[in-house]
Amino acid sequence: MATGKIGVTTENIFPVIKKFLYSDNEIFLRELVSNAIDATQKLKTLSSFGEFKGELGEMDVKVKVDKEAGTLTISDHGIGMDEEDVNKYINQIAFSGAEEFLEKYKDTANSIIGHFGLGFYSAFMVAKKVEIRSLSYKEGAKGVKWVCDGSPEYEMSEIDKSERGTDIILYIDDESKEYLEQSRIDTLLKKYCRFLPVPVISGKVKEWKDGKYVDTDKDNVVNATEPLWTKKPSELTDKDYLEFYHELMPAQEDPMFWIHLNVDYPFSLTGILYFPKVKSNIDLQKNRIQLYCNQVYVTDQVEGVVPEFMMLMQGVIDSPDIPLNVSRSYLQADSQVKKISSYISKKVAEKLDKMFKEDRAAFEAKWDDIEVFIKYGMLTDEKFYESAKKFFLLKDVNGKYYTLDEYRTLVEGNQTDKEGTVIYLYATDKTAQHSYIQAAEEKGYSVLLLNGQLDQHIIGLLESKLEKVRFGRVDSATPERLIEKEDAQKSSLTAEQNTLLTELFRVDLPVIEKANFIVEIASLSPNDAPATVTQNEMMRRMKEMAAMQPGMSFYGDMPDSYSLVVNAEQPAVKKILEDAEKAIEIPAASDEEKKDEKVEIKKPDEAVVKAYAEKVPAIKQIIDLALLQSGLLKGEALSRFIKRSAEMLG
Ligand code: ADP
Repeated sequence: MATGKIGVTTENIFPVIKKFLYSDNEIFLRELVSNAIDATQKLKTLSSFGEFKGELGEMDVKVKVDKEAGTLTISDHGIGMDEEDVNKYINQIAFSGAEEFLEKYKDTANSIIGHFGLGFYSAFMVAKKVEIRSLSYKEGAKGVKWVCDGSPEYEMSEIDKSERGTDIILYIDDESKEYLEQSRIDTLLKKYCRFLPVPVISGKVKEWKDGKYVDTDKDNVVNATEPLWTKKPSELTDKDYLEFYHELMPAQEDPMFWIHLNVDYPFSLTGILYFPKVKSNIDLQKNRIQLYCNQVYVTDQVEGVVPEFMMLMQGVIDSPDIPLNVSRSYLQADSQVKKISSYISKKVAEKLDKMFKEDRAAFEAKWDDIEVFIKYGMLTDEKFYESAKKFFLLKDVNGKYYTLDEYRTLVEGNQTDKEGTVIYLYATDKTAQHSYIQAAEEKGYSVLLLNGQLDQHIIGLLESKLEKVRFGRVDSATPERLIEKEDAQKSSLTAEQNTLLTELFRVDLPVIEKANFIVEIASLSPNDAPATVTQNEMMRRMKEMAAMQPGMSFYGDMPDSYSLVVNAEQPAVKKILEDAEKAIEIPAASDEEKKDEKVEIKKPDEAVVKAYAEKVPAIKQIIDLALLQSGLLKGEALSRFIKRSAEMLG
């Protein structure tokens, strides 16, 4: 028997490993099973090259719990190790500055383990003693046993071992008894080993007998050795993809579509990403993409590996180029990982483009379920925007879809204002804004429906990207002024008339909670409504945007500012003014004041106007109609309106 000292420069590496790595200690199983799989795969490779001529025989990996003995054993029939190998691969974990490194990375157990090939030593996170029993595949090799109790001293001796391969026996320590429970081991194997390429056996298949589950004599294989993503897309049917999806993501609706990733250059990556139905809410469900490295589960925390907006997708990514054991911050900084991220983004854009080109109708039918994703991508990923602008769709209030180019062509003729800016009109609520939409459509304008959660941002994005395009909500101005094609028609009213009309409507404005009004007089077409409530586009947007900022929610409580635009050319309005002029005296400006152009027209006495307006129900009626149209007439005010309307019918 030989004894020796493990080649670490730090005296006591094991207590350090234990202490720092404790929280993540379950990964020891992944490490040991992965080693067993590697050893198995290596032998298969040697065999296929003819360098190993013996029988391969059973090549599975077994994980066995022995509660009585307090051991957990991982066995394989792989290449095995002889004394020289154990010396070389197990005893020499020589590295310098270990302590310093551990100190630096103490939060991220994974990073230490991976960096120093400490995979095997992670066994000491849960075991007080570890034994290796191995027989190398090499001809004439002798069995070797290695035992270490967690101090830097080990014992090594020759043993009789008839079966090729390695057993790693963990004498589970008292704090880690959970790893002697078959159910705990099963859970871990399900998590880390579900898709490993070599059958992993743990326990027996159970069957229901006489009111309880009992073991059969059939080995329980925990993994699918050829998961779908490792197969050729041409060999797979939609049913295969859907089945795999439901296995991965139980209790989910069918996905919209999927992308099978397969690339070998400049990095190697396979995977399947599914596109779930995303309704109006962007519930950024994380942990839906699982990362594998050669079918070994690494993590489901993929921030930084896939572009942020892709986090809405679900599925698996497998790449040997993704460093298996490193921390997330390390992953994000890794240039290889960055390439992967932009590759996936490109692939997704290509797939969407293909879907759009191949079957536009089907793409449109899916649009409402995928738009959030596409919009999110366009807003957060410049490159994705560049690809997406070809298949991004605008939907009008009648449910018709247009690409950005198509839409410009459609509206350019009729919706360009006098400055040469093309105005894209939109509604955010088809029902509430119905009459505004109708008025715009009567002018031959097209109205888009932009009622999604991200649409305010998309409007901002498109205005910055598209040349000379501005968006205006249908209720942001009277129909006439939505798109200002020529200078506003000059008012036919004198300044005095203008003031009187303004006052007549101002004194009658109802008080509405969280709404401020100003009265504007406009000379619109006699056929247009007598009055319209509008809300300035820029002011509204500023408020909406500000309200979205964290800590700025008080903006949301601020009153909205509206204009009551009174149409001076409308016959009923004209009549109101004519009658009022006869009854109310407007204080004339003195000669002195008239010379000074800046002097404002004197307002008629408020009490007088109020008393007069009180007797003219038509004023209130016109105001209420405008409020009704914009959805602002409610409660008591609405009741009064109904009563007044009935009275006016006589
Ligand atoms: P890594 O797997 O990252 O190289 P480990 O500490 O897990 O680091 O393992 C060190 C080495 O020990 C492996 O590279 C391999 O050569 C050897 N080894 C570990 N487990 C086995 C096994 N089950 N069969 C054969 N060799 C093994």
